[in-house]
Amino acid sequence: MDGSSFSLNDWNDRAGKMKFETRSFIDGKFVDAVDGGKFEVINPATGAVLCSVAAGTSKDIDRAVASSKKAFQSKVWSRMAPRARMDVLYRFSDLINANANEFALLDTLCMGKPVSDMLNIDVPGSALCVKYFAEAIDKVEGAVTATDSNAFHYILREPLGVVGSIVPWNYPLMMAIWKISPALAAGNCVVLKPAEQSPLSALLLAKLFMEAGGPAGVLNVVTGMGETAGSALAHHMDVAKIGFTGSTEVGKLMLVAAGKSNMKRVALECGGKTPQIFLGDLPDLDRAVTYAINGIFGNMGEVCNAGSRLLIDKKLMGDFIDLFKEKSKTAFTPGNPLDPKTNMGPLVTKEHQQRVLGMIGKGKDQGAKLEFGGDSPAALSKGCFVNPTLFSGVKPDMTIAQEEIFGPVAAAIPISGLEEAISVANNSIYGLAASIWTKDVKTVHTAIRDIEAGVIWVNCFDHGDMTQPFGGYKQSGQGRDKCMESLLSYTQTKSAWVDLS
Ligand code: NAD
Repeated sequence: MDGSSFSLNDWNDRAGKMKFETRSFIDGKFVDAVDGGKFEVINPATGAVLCSVAAGTSKDIDRAVASSKKAFQSKVWSRMAPRARMDVLYRFSDLINANANEFALLDTLCMGKPVSDMLNIDVPGSALCVKYFAEAIDKVEGAVTATDSNAFHYILREPLGVVGSIVPWNYPLMMAIWKISPALAAGNCVVLKPAEQSPLSALLLAKLFMEAGGPAGVLNVVTGMGETAGSALAHHMDVAKIGFTGSTEVGKLMLVAAGKSNMKRVALECGGKTPQIFLGDLPDLDRAVTYAINGIFGNMGEVCNAGSRLLIDKKLMGDFIDLFKEKSKTAFTPGNPLDPKTNMGPLVTKEHQQRVLGMIGKGKDQGAKLEFGGDSPAALSKGCFVNPTLFSGVKPDMTIAQEEIFGPVAAAIPISGLEEAISVANNSIYGLAASIWTKDVKTVHTAIRDIEAGVIWVNCFDHGDMTQPFGGYKQSGQGRDKCMESLLSYTQTKSAWVDLS
């Protein structure tokens, strides 16, 4: 049934009847943790315990990696005829769409994302991502190079082997899919470690992959804590690559783990502090403010590229802030994420809520002006909610202008002209994304040239499709998700030199 017509009662009813699969998925079967440990998953909208999930340790990672290694060495997946591998992934994509309501419930209950966002964004986006990489499987080509006539040289692209995917909780389904799809399409076998806050959709994914015809061992999922299961995967001697999405702090640990173990490849998609630059000649103030609001309050601000820094030309500042305040009165309202009308759920955990409120406290202490928000809605005190918040008069070196808050907190920083805007935009350890709003074509291309970020939007925000490389400069990481580059990063080249003399 199409969940887009469900009412809150329908979702509540389904949530009440839902039976959660809580075991890891290894070698084609759901299994308890070797040591029998469990951890609780808590619904951040209510504070209620949702279920207890297998707490995998290094022993479970060993089992999963051994299973993936066996599957890889058997060639059952890497040497499957490309069109047969495509068919499996096409069916996988269809099954993701067919199970949209289940995925929507699982991620909404675990991390508080509005169920309507799951149905409109995460589920279709994930199914499309699988399809994109499936379509590419038989388009990856090697090369024949120009050599002396007494030699024939060609270059093959081969999969890496066992790939570890470690993902965060902010888009549990979609981040897992962004990682596993290119790795599987390239012929690798994967061990996926979902975030401990949101492990359930990954388990459904593993089951559906097998239903689609994926062989046992090609996709294993181990649930567990980052410091145990995640760390064991990152340090494993039989893992050829870690594809990581998460915080910059933990991303750095992935590099250390690679150096301490087997020099595995590491691709990192980490934090951000995205500047949205609004220059005095921007084409449409109303549209710009709408995008600014959506860019910071969408997904509760728990977005790696959240447009958390608003760099606003001093000439525009008054009008911009007035309109931002006016539109924000109705744009995002915290509420029950299972209600299809809700567009803002709780933050992921109590700890994270306290961290975000602590950041708001620092903003006030350091002298920024709180325009609205800054607290939690009183009527929703059981959950981890934080109201949409705007600070103005923010200075570039204040904590709220430097640190990733990962919540619905916008910091408006006054700037004068392009040069200052670029200097403030680049005054960050991060470089994931940026946007610039202007009518002037020379300004556009100067900004694109000079801003240190992996993704730049002009007169829009967060637009894109699967062809777009997504990833950061500086400490936002060094990998690229989506796009063909991502698929190729899960392959290695082999040079074959044939002597004809
Ligand atoms: P996190 O770094 O705490 O956790 C990410 C994953 O790493 C989880 O699965 C966790 O269990 C695991 N982990 C934690 N400690 C580990 C360790 N010592 N060894 C191995 N694995 C470990 O991040 P989070 O709080 O889950 O997610 C939020 C962060 O993710 C934000 O910084 C956000 O910007 C970032 N993010 C980036 C992108 C991107 O594309 N650049 C996308 C989404 C989220």
